[in-house]
Amino acid sequence: MIIDAHMHLPSGEPDLDSKKRRLLSDMRANGVDIGIVISDSELESTIGSMDDCTELFSDCPNVFAAAGISPYINYRKQLEKLKKYLTLGFFVGIKLYCGHEPIYIDDGDLKPVFRLAAEFDVPVLFHSGWDNAQCAAPERAKAAAAANPEARLVCCHCYYPKLAKCFETLKSCPNVYFDLSSVADDPEKCPSVAQVLERYIPEMPERFIFGSDYGCCDQRRHIDFIKKLDIPSDYLQDVIHGNAARIYNISS
Ligand SMILES: [Zn+2]
Repeated sequence: MIIDAHMHLPSGEPDLDSKKRRLLSDMRANGVDIGIVISDSELESTIGSMDDCTELFSDCPNVFAAAGISPYINYRKQLEKLKKYLTLGFFVGIKLYCGHEPIYIDDGDLKPVFRLAAEFDVPVLFHSGWDNAQCAAPERAKAAAAANPEARLVCCHCYYPKLAKCFETLKSCPNVYFDLSSVADDPEKCPSVAQVLERYIPEMPERFIFGSDYGCCDQRRHIDFIKKLDIPSDYLQDVIHGNAARIYNISS
């Protein structure tokens, strides 16, 4: 069983329906049983908006969606819409594109997002690492985790490429989880990334989640990378499906 907890609609297809078909066929080809597709925070996007992603995957029992949102884009209205969708059980997470947009993860403007996440028991995902890395630097993520103890925070990309700094700073925050998407993107960095993961996964095996960033990164390469890690097989099972199922409340 593999859950890829970090996917986007792929580029290179003419419309949303063909993107969906490609994504589903790639999941099958790569042996991925369950996927979480993350929408953009934009109202129109090549990776799909909140509306697009709910509509597209409502008939796919093995594909769940997480909703992108931004304090800069129609915030109040999008929050209302998000609440409506969460009430209907349409999203399993909420994503903040810290760094891609000038959003600081510990900014007070994000309070309504954390409140919704707590109310509907879904995690808040945030981009971290390359691309204005200061927006979700580990110290800021730590502050956000402490300010929102009732929320689960998912740190996407683990502050890539500074993974060790991320784990060291955030290991004391029990409500922060680590999404491994895109960490195997650069084959040259894979050996050093593997070394860091082989050290930290056994320290907190319940807090790592497999993801590939499908749509931006190679899913097959990420699966091969994670399966080759030198960690106990129980921990590998946690990382490739058990933890995601629990953290996102999805059955596997
Ligand atoms: Zn992504």
